[in-house]
Amino acid sequence: MRVILLGSGSYSGTPKVLCECENCSRARRFPQYRRTRFSMYIPQINVLIDPSPDLYYHMSYVNYPALSEGDFPPDEL
Ligand SMILES: [Zn+2]
Repeated sequence: MRVILLGSGSYSGTPKVLCECENCSRARRFPQYRRTRFSMYIPQINVLIDPSPDLYYHMSYVNYPALSEGDFPPDEL
């Protein structure tokens, strides 16, 4: 079974706002070290595990069909 790891960062992702630790500083300088929040997707059974606020970005990454234009109603204020 194929499992897609969508994010591997902590609860706030990496880099964290205002954090000066080595990991966050490196992630600001080098984009390959940036991490979104943890989430997994299993395409065979169409299951999303632990969706995060980065969900739209994650689903765009796997070309999830429900993200195509017209599948979401417009925001109503
Ligand atoms: Zn940090």
